[in-house]
Amino acid sequence: MSIAIAIDGPAGAGKSTIAKLAAKELGFIYVDTGALYRTIGLAATRRGYTAEDKAEIIAMLDGIAVELAFNEKKEQIVLLDKEDVSGLIRTPEISMMASAVSAIPEVRAYLLDLQRNMAHTNNVIMDGRDIGTVVLPDAKLKIFLSASAECRARRRYDELIEKGMDVKYEDILRDVETRDYNDSHRDIAPLKPAEGAVMVDTSGEDLETSVNKLLNIMREHI
Ligand code: C5P
Repeated sequence: MSIAIAIDGPAGAGKSTIAKLAAKELGFIYVDTGALYRTIGLAATRRGYTAEDKAEIIAMLDGIAVELAFNEKKEQIVLLDKEDVSGLIRTPEISMMASAVSAIPEVRAYLLDLQRNMAHTNNVIMDGRDIGTVVLPDAKLKIFLSASAECRARRRYDELIEKGMDVKYEDILRDVETRDYNDSHRDIAPLKPAEGAVMVDTSGEDLETSVNKLLNIMREHI
């Protein structure tokens, strides 16, 4: 039987960075489910659709292929119609579009099996918004990872600046707050802690402290 650890929480809480390092340490596969919603967002954007074009986005799903794969470094990559789009999905524009498409029930249903299959065949640390509540409710351990909006916006800002992107902190903070609101107020699979989730707040902590905190919790449970 494979072991699953679910990590949910708002954008920028450090889920992916922390989960990636913890997975490496434990020898688990790290699955970033946000990348799947981002890929649908990219596919919709490429077709010229906006958040309002729900019917078109739903109709698009039958004609696209979204796959998760792993490169030689065992890092997750995401394929859209066999094209590696892992780099292209990391822009503020696609972040907002991912948040919009993720509120469409058909999009969530479309991605559900893909996520569950990953967990059935591998020991995984899976990060997202509804992993403990919907995707893997029987996960061995559920963690809800958060931090203040300002702290999360600052981290995302530093990340994008480091990648050479021309962004403003105020815009990133507004995006973080908008996405928080959208993600926690949507009708389907809203962002909320799963029953029995261990609550972890990483505000003001450096990466090493947060990773160690999570590794301790994980080792206690698996
Ligand atoms: O985690 P990341 O910021 O890459 O996720 C992008 C968007 O995808 C989020 O704002 C959220 O709306 C959506 N998402 C989701 N459910 C997941 C993972 C991500 O709704 N399991």
